[in-house]
Amino acid sequence: MERLQKIMARAGIASRRKCEELILSGQVEVNGEVVRTLGAKADPAVDEIKVAGRPIRPEKKLYFAFNKPKGVITSARDPEGRRVMADYFRDVKERVYPVGRLDYDTEGLLIVTNDGDFANKLTHPSGHIPRTYHAVVKGIPHGTLLEKLAAGINLDDGMTAPAEVEYRDVDMDKNEATIEITLYEGRNRQVRRMFEAIGHPVKRLRRVRFGSLTLQGIPRGKYRELKPEEVKALL
Ligand code: URA
Repeated sequence: MERLQKIMARAGIASRRKCEELILSGQVEVNGEVVRTLGAKADPAVDEIKVAGRPIRPEKKLYFAFNKPKGVITSARDPEGRRVMADYFRDVKERVYPVGRLDYDTEGLLIVTNDGDFANKLTHPSGHIPRTYHAVVKGIPHGTLLEKLAAGINLDDGMTAPAEVEYRDVDMDKNEATIEITLYEGRNRQVRRMFEAIGHPVKRLRRVRFGSLTLQGIPRGKYRELKPEEVKALL
């Protein structure tokens, strides 16, 4: 639920201030009833809102793939003043939010939308959407450890579901390895906790794929709008 004047302003009716005047002057109806109070709220997805007898156009649904840089909070605001995702979406006038989260220090693919149903479907545990990460880890984990990760390991919040895990690169000089890991669930800090559990903490983490989407063609800190068929393919 959101304040009426906010919904109206976003739908392009007028400024928020002007929308308040429209409400006070009795020109706004919600589900057939005139609303004259400024605190009134509505749900743009289900309530029919009319201004001067005309329905406001439904909010345009927006879908983006964003290449989140490291050192950015996946939220609209940060009380500590750190960089936030919304800083990269200043030119999108609709309020958009991320589908799930990436840690402050994780970079890579994040889907951003204003479609709540879509976001819920994608993050629902029953969806089992594959998410692929490249993790640079400290030391060079033995193959048997990677097999353990793939089979499932016990974390504080229970056993992890089967995953796909393989080496991408091994750097003896730096004593680090890059491991590609695909998860079919999305628990908080899951990749970091899994590698921590086998004694090879993550030094750098990047999500390179979410369902059928990849980072291809999206420079760090930039986003691109998804095509309708790309949106469908995710569901
Ligand atoms: N797993 C993590 O540990 N961190 C992320 O940001 C995403 C997955």
